[in-house]
Amino acid sequence: MNVLEKLWNLQKVLTEVAALDRRLSVKPDHFAEIDRKYETAKAEMDRLQATLDQLGRERRKLDGDLQMEQEALTKYEGQMKMVKNQQQYSAAWKEIDIARKKKKEIEDAELAKMGEIEAAQNALDALKESHAELTAEWELAHGEWQESLHEVRSELDKAKQRVAEAEADIPPGPLRQFQRIFEQRHGIAMSLLEGDSCSNCRFKVRSQAILQVHRGDIITCEGCRRIVYAEKTS
Ligand SMILES: [Zn+2]
Repeated sequence: MNVLEKLWNLQKVLTEVAALDRRLSVKPDHFAEIDRKYETAKAEMDRLQATLDQLGRERRKLDGDLQMEQEALTKYEGQMKMVKNQQQYSAAWKEIDIARKKKKEIEDAELAKMGEIEAAQNALDALKESHAELTAEWELAHGEWQESLHEVRSELDKAKQRVAEAEADIPPGPLRQFQRIFEQRHGIAMSLLEGDSCSNCRFKVRSQAILQVHRGDIITCEGCRRIVYAEKTS
């Protein structure tokens, strides 16, 4: 292998490393789909639970209001027994009437609130029931994914070992040039020649340069600055 071929080989192993790295961080489609469903259901349950908490607070507030109204009513009813004339009787009666109406309003509101609480609780219970199944599915898929990662990690270790070996076999100058381009060009330091164009940027490579590439010289593409490589036709 000449240096150019060694660089091409290095690029291939580095591309493999990048692909394995991605596999470690990216959820596989099957798990990602279950994970999405799982998270959506969890968010919905959290939302329902928050609604229930809020409704509970509102109901307790109504309870307090009802008690106060009941006390007021008891007081007015007591006053009713002590009225001395028609005018006082009318006034007391009016207060009792207002207090009774208020009390009735609060009772109706509390009943409506209890209906809302029941509906939310039923929805949450149904969701929790179906979530148990989803959780089991999620755990299975997650376990399988994690299991498959052992294999990926071991492949990654081997690929990294091959990178080290390939690098050790390349003279420092070309290796530094390769690494500089590799970092600047998002992990792709080399480009394959397709006909007379760079496969990465479609820039035309001069015929003189193509001959040099075939000879094994390190030539960079004038378009994307990557090292041009030509696969052997023989
Ligand atoms: Zn190019």
